[in-house]
Amino acid sequence: MDKNAEIALKLQALRDDYAARLPAEIQSLRDLVSDLAQPEFQRDALEKLNQKLHKLAGSAGSFGFPDLGKQAKKLELQTQTWLAANQLDMGMLRVFAVAVAALDGQAQGDSAKKTPLVSQSAPLKTNTLIYVLEDDPDVADEVCMSLRHFGHQVVHFSTIAAAEVEVLRRPPDFMICDIVFTEEGRETPEAVAILQQNLPTPVPVIFVSTRTDFEAYHAAVRAGAVGYFVKPLDIIRLVDCFEYYLDRHRSAPYRVLIIDDDMALAEHYKLVLNSADIRAEVSNNPNEIFEVLQDFHPELILLDINMPGCNGIELAQVIRLNQDWLRVPITYLSSEQDVEKRAVAMGRAGDDFLSKPLGDRELITAVSVRAARSRQLSDALDRDSLTGLLKHSRIKEQVDAELSRAVRSEENLSVVMLDLDHFKQVNDTYGHPAGDKVIKAIAHLLRQRLRKTDAVGRYGGEEFVAVLPRCSREEAQVLMEDVRQRLRDISFTVDQRTFNVTLSAGIAAYRPGVERAEQLLQEADAALYRAKAEGRNRICLSR
Ligand code: GH3
Ligand code: MG
Ligand code: MG
Repeated sequence: MDKNAEIALKLQALRDDYAARLPAEIQSLRDLVSDLAQPEFQRDALEKLNQKLHKLAGSAGSFGFPDLGKQAKKLELQTQTWLAANQLDMGMLRVFAVAVAALDGQAQGDSAKKTPLVSQSAPLKTNTLIYVLEDDPDVADEVCMSLRHFGHQVVHFSTIAAAEVEVLRRPPDFMICDIVFTEEGRETPEAVAILQQNLPTPVPVIFVSTRTDFEAYHAAVRAGAVGYFVKPLDIIRLVDCFEYYLDRHRSAPYRVLIIDDDMALAEHYKLVLNSADIRAEVSNNPNEIFEVLQDFHPELILLDINMPGCNGIELAQVIRLNQDWLRVPITYLSSEQDVEKRAVAMGRAGDDFLSKPLGDRELITAVSVRAARSRQLSDALDRDSLTGLLKHSRIKEQVDAELSRAVRSEENLSVVMLDLDHFKQVNDTYGHPAGDKVIKAIAHLLRQRLRKTDAVGRYGGEEFVAVLPRCSREEAQVLMEDVRQRLRDISFTVDQRTFNVTLSAGIAAYRPGVERAEQLLQEADAALYRAKAEGRNRICLSR
């Protein structure tokens, strides 16, 4: 059975359970209402009734009983008014009792309508087809080469006319378009906008241009732009934007933690999110929050507000007191409609609010956009701004994680420590900005030459670490030799003066008995030291 069919079955089972429990639930509401009919004010019964209606209002819609949910919400608000006044209005109570008795009818009406279960999501494609529209051959070469390094299928067009024919014949997954085509005397945004209207689904586009005026950006948006880059082109950032866009559609699933005391509802949300390839964990025990966060590393927390013991607002505050989880956004998911209470919740902690009942599509969309934003910001925090490589602490964590994996799987793992030669002289002779250019170039080169599963970090100023899983010492050496020669062959130009830069690197590899990441890093560093001592511009293996 395919995954979606399996999820649909589980959702149906949850819905059936819910439907089976409903008659008893509605009966208990009726019993509470008849308790209220006694001459003296029954505050306990009223509070209980209020809580039950609140829960029903929040959950019924998700289990296929939208009208029941709406009616429960109205009745809940009535109980709130009575609670606030600390007395009942007996005239109103009679009407209220009739309405509660009628909940059964709403439930039956809903179940006859049979709202559909989550829609099936389309299967994802793997190999990406990219069209590059660029009339400058140098820019085209650089863009096409970089994208091919990342394993994409790239087709280059030097005229808009040629691209138009091919886009209609075989729509690509992605387009990268220069805006102005001087020879044809045309601009791509208008052409692309017309093409988009004739395609079954719009193609995402990144525009590159020398233009920075509002009209150019506006035309780009109308043509379906997801990115806009100003020339001279920073290829690293362009590839980043592109990879980020693709990632949103196919990389590791987002991780979402759902905290709700209503386990059946939380399970329902989980299954709905699963159907959209989002990983979800459910927790209903606030005491375990730090363990759950540590194990699961969510990118978003969905938090119910009204829970017994530690309520959602308190729990959000607890999470916010812990510096480790500052970057994880907290979204309250609650049927609380009181504007005052919502304001209090937001004022204490938490980042935004979603209202129950929440439709399946709405849940998927709301969670996807928030998790995507969270991942984007988190990446920005983890990456060095000059090079886009991982920062010192993150690359060390990466060595740790890959070492644990190598130990478990008994697979190869190599760690490279790399340092630019006589870099101080480069700065002294050609200036700091020239030095920065070199640092960007080596970062770019490393990203180009390494595989997607490899990780590269800027370890220090002009020092880099690469972690290469499933790669032996000898394979790592071949790879680094290639990087060394490529860097050596790049000519940098500053004020018409040309210079070259070389690098030295040390490589250490995992073998049984190595238990700490620190050990691998030290061995790689010792090998790097030898490379420097033996004359630089070379790669040494650890002994
Ligand atoms: P060696 O071959 O022994 O590595 O010599 P070196 O000159 O490269 O080594 P040293 O560690 O003495 O100098 C490193 C220099 O790198 C000093 C520092 O100014 C420069 N540097 C560090 N970070 C940056 C940066 O972000 N931009 C620029 N332009 N230079 C940097
Ligand atoms: Mg150096
Ligand atoms: Mg150094």
